[in-house]
Amino acid sequence: MQLAQRLDRISEPQTIKMAKLSRELKSQGLDVIDLSLGEPDFRTPQHICDAAVQAMADGYTKYTPVAGIPELRQAVCTKLKRDNGLDYLPENIVVSTGAKQSLANAVLSLINPGDEAIIPTPYWVTYAALVSLSEGKPIFIHCGIESDFKLSAEKLAAAITDKTRLFIFSSPCNPTGSVYTREELAALVAVFEKHPNITIISDEIYEYINYNGQHESIAQFDSIKERVVVVNGFSKGFAMTGWRLGYIAANKDLAQACEKLQAQFTSGTNSIAQRAAVAALLGDLTPSMAMVDAFKERKDYVIKNLARIDGIKINNPAGAFYAFPDISSFFGKTDGTSVMNTAEDVAMYLLHKGHVTVVDGAAFGSPNNIRISFATSMDNLIEATKRIKYALDLLK
Ligand code: PLP
Repeated sequence: MQLAQRLDRISEPQTIKMAKLSRELKSQGLDVIDLSLGEPDFRTPQHICDAAVQAMADGYTKYTPVAGIPELRQAVCTKLKRDNGLDYLPENIVVSTGAKQSLANAVLSLINPGDEAIIPTPYWVTYAALVSLSEGKPIFIHCGIESDFKLSAEKLAAAITDKTRLFIFSSPCNPTGSVYTREELAALVAVFEKHPNITIISDEIYEYINYNGQHESIAQFDSIKERVVVVNGFSKGFAMTGWRLGYIAANKDLAQACEKLQAQFTSGTNSIAQRAAVAALLGDLTPSMAMVDAFKERKDYVIKNLARIDGIKINNPAGAFYAFPDISSFFGKTDGTSVMNTAEDVAMYLLHKGHVTVVDGAAFGSPNNIRISFATSMDNLIEATKRIKYALDLLK
């Protein structure tokens, strides 16, 4: 069968590939610890599940308005005001089948062939794929561990051309866990103020998983708010990955564009999940906060133990649930059988020698790193960090 050329512009996400490999090895009876996953290992809080059960009992099982049910669009506005001090109306909100679809709607609505989209690296895999699918050109700006993987105003200004149409970033960041402070965002905003044609997609899906307290949104800067697209969702903060729910807050024109696309793609996300989402946003946040406490304890353990391994350079993530160590000092080393030339070699070596799945940093535009998720139990993490140390210490 002849498939469309657009498929050649994207590849299967490395994260999904590693998770698949891990499942395969597990099914062969190997005791593999999977640290490749980007999903909380907690259950969705009970009151959210109860709301879904009630929706079904009420017969709430039909098509909904494409952009989301009115109660949910209003609940998103309430949340944005309560948590972020942001004023939006329901007409600014579009609810989608996951933040991934929200991002896809926004990128497809904004990028014409040949347009440039600036993406600071390390970045979440899907951003570049969506820009390429839209026939735009991703422009990567390298941000190293020395700046906590954050972008400076100088680097941003230097990357802007007259073709720049979009800027996409996440804070807290997947894969680095970096969180931009208000001052750091203000410096970027000062650059954007000089370039009114650039739209900013601010992926805030890890908002609640923040170890330092205050989350800052770039939409809080009035001078650029009209051209910021806030992307958020339920997968991480409410442990609702399988429910497939995300949303944007944006100016009305873009919201309508996303709704128009979505009307052709999905007709909107499922009715039951939307009722559950209202309960998530307006209900008790204690279970979410308890989850974050557990992530913090695990983060402290994992970072402390990885930092002790000779040859590893690591930052202390302020958010999300990943460690992103630089393992380039192992390049050129061998255990006597295989030589480590790339982060992918190290990831495969850890899988085969240590039975631990991690993700090659090249997938995030950072070929000197690997991503290690701590969204798994403390017992798994204790064992996995031991195995990683054992395997890396063998490399000479
Ligand atoms: N944005 C980032 C940075 C992510 O890490 C993820 C999921 O891994 C998403 C968006 C997509 O989330 P959702 O499950 O809502 O599609």
